[in-house]
Amino acid sequence: MQDILLGSHCKMFGKEMFLGSVKEAVSYGANTFMVYTGAPQNTKRKDISELCIEEGHEYMKEHGIDRFVIHAPYIINLGNTVKPEIYKLAKDFLAVELQRTIAMGSDTLILHPGSAVGADRGDAIKQIIEGLNGILTPDMKCSIALETMAGKGSEIGCTFEEIAAIIDGVECRDKLTVCFDTCHVFDAGYDIVNDLDGVLERFDKTVGKEKISVFHINDSKNGLSSHKDRHANIGEGMIGLDALAKIVFHPDFAGIPKILETPYITDENGDDKPPYKEEIALIRSSGEAIV
Ligand code: FE
Ligand code: FE
Ligand code: ZN
Repeated sequence: MQDILLGSHCKMFGKEMFLGSVKEAVSYGANTFMVYTGAPQNTKRKDISELCIEEGHEYMKEHGIDRFVIHAPYIINLGNTVKPEIYKLAKDFLAVELQRTIAMGSDTLILHPGSAVGADRGDAIKQIIEGLNGILTPDMKCSIALETMAGKGSEIGCTFEEIAAIIDGVECRDKLTVCFDTCHVFDAGYDIVNDLDGVLERFDKTVGKEKISVFHINDSKNGLSSHKDRHANIGEGMIGLDALAKIVFHPDFAGIPKILETPYITDENGDDKPPYKEEIALIRSSGEAIV
């Protein structure tokens, strides 16, 4: 059985920064992980020289981890056609984030395609394409992975067709991949619980399954087509452990990083604890039953 790449999002803070993220991943028994290069809600960023990148990579090597991914901040919205200054900020900041991703030694920057903020969705998609065309270059050492979205508010990328439309419009489309988020896809109306094969087939026909470069493995607090985007702990939501394990252990996606973004759990003392060590073990043990 080929080993799977399974990890979670990890924090990056304090003195150790990236080294701390790697240590956190190792403490969960993970063999891959995801970080934000700074707070997801703002543009304040520590200089790349202060991130302990080399130390982090050494620690990765010592523990047999060779891949990690980066998530761009939520404030980047290439789809805002209402406020030009938001679009400009999105383009400028995305270019900076790409450089930071490369400097940190990752080849994948995950991006929420954008939100139409109540305006025309077609126009938003056009602007997202224009923004990406201005940023992506053929010789770049990094790809942008467009995340499949739940369709909360006027989020773009909640259908496979919208993801395909963006990719089709971008010149350097080999630098665009997809981050398949299980909670988002389910909330968007794709029944990965009862018809996983059918959903993957639809994805393959519309976008191409070889485009998936990373998975977000999350259960959902809400039902199919709820468009809510509330992540649940593994096995405690409406998707369930079985369907999630089938995706994690799917033979077509071996070697592709699977990242947990499930919520922290409040313990009996009222402290919030990450669930990742237990969830990684749970998924791994359920996989042994499948294969
Ligand atoms: Fe995301
Ligand atoms: Fe996600
Ligand atoms: Zn989400």
